[in-house]
Amino acid sequence: MHSGYNGMAGEFGHVSIDPSGPLCQCGQKGCWEMVASSRAAIRSFNEASRRKVKDIYELLQLSEEGDENAIEALTEQARALGRGLRLITASISPELILVVGDITASWDRFGPVVAQELAASMLAGPPPLLRAAGDAELARLSGSAAMLMQRHASYHRSTHDASRRA
Ligand SMILES: [Zn+2]
Repeated sequence: MHSGYNGMAGEFGHVSIDPSGPLCQCGQKGCWEMVASSRAAIRSFNEASRRKVKDIYELLQLSEEGDENAIEALTEQARALGRGLRLITASISPELILVVGDITASWDRFGPVVAQELAASMLAGPPPLLRAAGDAELARLSGSAAMLMQRHASYHRSTHDASRRA
């Protein structure tokens, strides 16, 4: 893997994609991993809806049942994910991006939102293929690309580890 000048190459999660977004523990606002996380979707749902959810599985379930606030919150998360994937596409121009994480449970609905957001900003050529990967598929993969994606797209785990930065 490419570690870069200060060992922080590939830290796309802390690139701010929404300057008015929530404060991240890194000190910036609207870091990609803040706005594209399941936590962000839960927070925005709980702010907008009288009904409250305690985790992403409840939220996904509500969206499957057609709850408009749930669909909106997850769509916003998918858009944020797609916007962040532009960074990766611009940096390394991958042919294929595999996404893991909770939102892939409803990939039929939200995958196209991610893809559309990503495709909206291509400088040239077609956007990378975007596919949801199951855990089994991920286990077969190895190498830096899979690691990178796993670190930044598997958002039900808190992938932000301050310890690595210390
Ligand atoms: Zn941050």
